[in-house]
Amino acid sequence: MNVYLDNAATTPMDPEVVALMTRVMTENYGNPSSIHALGRKSRTLIEKSRKKVAKHLGVAPGEIFFTSGGTEADNMAISCAVRDLGVTHIITSPLEHHAVLHSAERMVEEHGVKLSIVQLLPDGHVDLGHLKTLLEENADRKTLVSLMHANNEVGNLLDVAQVGALCRENGAYFHTDTVQTIGHLEVTPKEWGVHFLAASAHKFHGPKGIGFIYVDENVQVKPILTGGSQERNMRGGTENLIGIVGMAKALDIAIEELDEIRTRLTDIRNHMMTRLQNEIEGVKFNGDYNGRTNYIVLNVAFPDNGDGDMMLFNLDIAGIAASGGSACSSGSNVGSHVLRAIGKNLNMNSVRFSFGKFTTKEDVDYAVDKLVELINGKAVQA
Ligand code: PLP
Repeated sequence: MNVYLDNAATTPMDPEVVALMTRVMTENYGNPSSIHALGRKSRTLIEKSRKKVAKHLGVAPGEIFFTSGGTEADNMAISCAVRDLGVTHIITSPLEHHAVLHSAERMVEEHGVKLSIVQLLPDGHVDLGHLKTLLEENADRKTLVSLMHANNEVGNLLDVAQVGALCRENGAYFHTDTVQTIGHLEVTPKEWGVHFLAASAHKFHGPKGIGFIYVDENVQVKPILTGGSQERNMRGGTENLIGIVGMAKALDIAIEELDEIRTRLTDIRNHMMTRLQNEIEGVKFNGDYNGRTNYIVLNVAFPDNGDGDMMLFNLDIAGIAASGGSACSSGSNVGSHVLRAIGKNLNMNSVRFSFGKFTTKEDVDYAVDKLVELINGKAVQA
């Protein structure tokens, strides 16, 4: 049996999205910048997709710019804030994705920006009292606050509206990475008071290599890729038409099914937690697992049975796909910067299981059965 429990790394595509993309790929090969009928058809598809995405976020279509994914959107928000908005101070957290952390570090090296790292509370949530202090202490600087909506490794959810209010009170810009929440939770940038927001299609059963950035209409930023006049002069280059159409379709489906899938996956996640607690002595969960958390992630800390670093390998042999950290840090074997930041030194034994709309209770039961065998030292049979 093969069980996929790594949906926070990426999700399998929805067959309806694949069908639509295949059709568009076959029929709509016109360059969206060409003025003939085929080109105009492609242009229409792009603008219809932009309208759909904007509608789901409650924003204007002109505030959505398509990118190659979440990484580009995060990079763009941070670079543009420094280059175009006069930001000289960035506040972020140790929990952020490397697309944010490394971009912020680059701004320090290349532009002499001051970087402040906000403290965390014992449950791994951002200490909003400390955030307020950092904003007040740096009142003489133009600040960008970059904090993610949900953490990709442990699932902790930020009170985005409260951060937005703090930013507004202190005249700071606010960027949030919603890569792990868009399509799974309500995302409302206008209500939150967000200036920049990053999203990626492959986390909600859409294609890889496509995402978008929301940029508040009151914020004027310059092009990130110069070239043609695509994306209203903000990002040159022939558009990824198939990706854009696929992303909009995937988001339509995700929003339509959101309530139903949230209920089902919350139930599956609780079932997994309960079984693990009942059947594996000493098992723990990382992050605010019973509180403000994203229902698609369960980060489990297993007791040390002497072969902790073999855990993912053994799961893989049993046909179970899961992650040790984020997909990008998994390969580099340096341990998770997120678990380190929230004070866990059990890196080797922590496994992130993450769920998507194709996850079933049977998948989770199979995984728990194998985990029980593994932890109890029995041979695992695939
Ligand atoms: N931000 C978060 C929180 C993520 O989980 C990821 C993907 O793992 C990214 C950004 C990067 O997105 P993309 O893979 O679309 O570049």
